[in-house]
Amino acid sequence: MSVHTQFGVTRAAGESSVDYPILREREGGWELMGACCSECGTVFYPPRALCPHDLSECSETALSPAGLLYSFTRIDVAPQGFDPPYWIGYVDLDEGVRVLARIRWRERGEPLVGNRVTLAVEVVREEPATLGPVFEGPA
Ligand SMILES: [Zn+2]
Repeated sequence: MSVHTQFGVTRAAGESSVDYPILREREGGWELMGACCSECGTVFYPPRALCPHDLSECSETALSPAGLLYSFTRIDVAPQGFDPPYWIGYVDLDEGVRVLARIRWRERGEPLVGNRVTLAVEVVREEPATLGPVFEGPA
């Protein structure tokens, strides 16, 4: 899946590393995608084809655009292609999945564990330019 946006982005995070894309464009915005088991109803992130519990097929499902910050850390020394400093963290979504993503904290100081954050999608890597999920807070 290649995407073309105002940033000239040509790929999305995870497009070659998971069964399905993690982002879907919809009505001018973006949705974070997971998968739901047709048998037991367990929701997974990233999306996957088969449920590991009962081997039933999973179908793609849009995940909640908000969650609670479970844990975080600040990245001061980043891999090539990333622009430090920035925060990353785990966000617990309402569906019961935990998502690792960049965190954009709009206030001074550190993010707070348990704070509500909301989904945005933006360029998370400069070279190659890559879109990814970003959770911003406080919500
Ligand atoms: Zn299942």
